[in-house]
Amino acid sequence: MQNLKNKNTSFIHKIIENFFKKNKKKTLHTRFPPDPNGYLHIGHAKSLCINFGLAQQYHGKCNLRFDDTNPNIQHNKYITKIKKDILWLGFKWNKKTKYSSTYFNKIYKYAIELIKKNLAYVDKLKKHEIRSYRGTLTKPGTNSPYRNQTIEENLLLFKNMMLGNFSEGTVCLRAKINMQSPCIIMRDPILYRIKFVKHNKTKKKWCIYPTYDFAHCISDAIENITHSLCTLEFQDNQKLYNWILKNITIINHPKQYEYSRLNLEYCTLSKRKIKILITNNIIKKWDDPRLPTIAGLRKRGYTASSIRNFCHKLGITKQNNLIQMSSLESCIRKELNITTYRTMSILEPIKIVICNMYHKFQEKINVLNHPKNSQLGTQNIIFSNILYIEKTDFQEKPKKKYYRLTLGKTIKLKYSYILTAHSIKKNHNNKITKIFCTFHKVQNNKKYSIIHWISIQDTIPAEFRIYNYLFTTKTPSTKKNLLSHINPESKIKKFGFINKNIIKNLEIYRYQFERIGYFITDKKTYNKKKIIFHQIVTLKENWNK
Ligand code: ATP
Ligand code: MG
Repeated sequence: MQNLKNKNTSFIHKIIENFFKKNKKKTLHTRFPPDPNGYLHIGHAKSLCINFGLAQQYHGKCNLRFDDTNPNIQHNKYITKIKKDILWLGFKWNKKTKYSSTYFNKIYKYAIELIKKNLAYVDKLKKHEIRSYRGTLTKPGTNSPYRNQTIEENLLLFKNMMLGNFSEGTVCLRAKINMQSPCIIMRDPILYRIKFVKHNKTKKKWCIYPTYDFAHCISDAIENITHSLCTLEFQDNQKLYNWILKNITIINHPKQYEYSRLNLEYCTLSKRKIKILITNNIIKKWDDPRLPTIAGLRKRGYTASSIRNFCHKLGITKQNNLIQMSSLESCIRKELNITTYRTMSILEPIKIVICNMYHKFQEKINVLNHPKNSQLGTQNIIFSNILYIEKTDFQEKPKKKYYRLTLGKTIKLKYSYILTAHSIKKNHNNKITKIFCTFHKVQNNKKYSIIHWISIQDTIPAEFRIYNYLFTTKTPSTKKNLLSHINPESKIKKFGFINKNIIKNLEIYRYQFERIGYFITDKKTYNKKKIIFHQIVTLKENWNK
């Protein structure tokens, strides 16, 4: 997996190299810690490439650990999907899958240790009171009236929390740090809260659950993680991460380092917002080809290597910026240009009748599957007196600078003859149903416009799904009402024809439809009457935008 090898130039690489200078015999150990509350997206792919990529580069290990501390929104089905996506992207985690919930006993004991050291207390303030006592960026916080309870009182209260003797939201365990700290996160953060919710791993064993901040650093330490890499929004949490590890009895003290989150134009990389799209029926499922989820990109036809390549190009920095969609698209386009077979498909057909040809005449034309790679072989296509061309390749009343087919004009059919249009037939709706033409052999060096075509004998009906951006704004996540920025033309269906040759090659899914774009077969529709093709990417940037 060559494209995982980052150049050793990022600040994280420097940190790791310094780590090895000081700790010659140590092994680099990273982890990928998803919340099992949704599918993975391209932002997670960046995190995967960093964590697994560094482990691979430095001959280390990378754990997969589900941060399953919030039973309200976590489901087993997401765990299965997340694992599938990680494997598909080409990453294998170290040994068994890990779960923060496996450490709940240990985490509970560390909470007791903090209480015994007078570094944690059970607070009876209500949720909104905790919030207002916490202060703001400009106003220091105020101590809770329960902050000075004795250690014994706190131990008893915490035990009662654990036994289910309090109702949800009435009490919580807080770290005793500093309510005047300039860093809000250090103003007595919550360590444990009550949730009478069944957990998908620990079932009904617990009614108290550690917060992400409390569980994350302890899980990292238990797993001997050396470098805990996360996104910049956790920068302030680093102080708490270090405070917890410093104050409990645990051998390993991992270090947290932050890098910038991936933000991508025209899409949202927030699982919560993707859920809003699903509940509002904008999209049906997490694997919709318009979504930047790994499952969506896979269905759309992106390859794992093109996604890894994209992440590799992003590098690891602390700069927050909005990445252009064209940058992701160019990674898949470059790859498909080299690997895909060429074929001529017609997305919006209009019929051509060739008048100077005997109606039973058929000619086989042998064409290369790839213009620059003869190793991909050849295919035979049929030329006959009835063909289809794209509707857009003919204009009855041509606009200025229209170079394709018009009445009286000659063009060249790709891989074949030249064609002159003479007359048209229309139906009662005034729509053109047939174009009558004559064909000729190319006799001179004159240059003609070239259009693609398909002979009626070669056709199989197909549905084509053309995708545009799901949002009309580059930054939908910053908008108050996400749903008012949906692009009504994000999915367009077209009904036309593919060449029969495509279904002779059932193991090949991705194609370049000449002059149109790259497409992938929807595998589920292979045996059905109508095959569906998803547009992966246009041939050129901004082709149909
Ligand atoms: P969301 O806000 O969509 O719920 P999250 O950050 O909570 O996302 P997690 O499942 O907790 O999602 O993320 C697992 C790992 O992936 C974390 O280390 C997180 O920092 C990283 N990650 C998530 N989104 C991005 C992103 N856009 N760019 C880079 N890394 C990301
Ligand atoms: Mg998270």
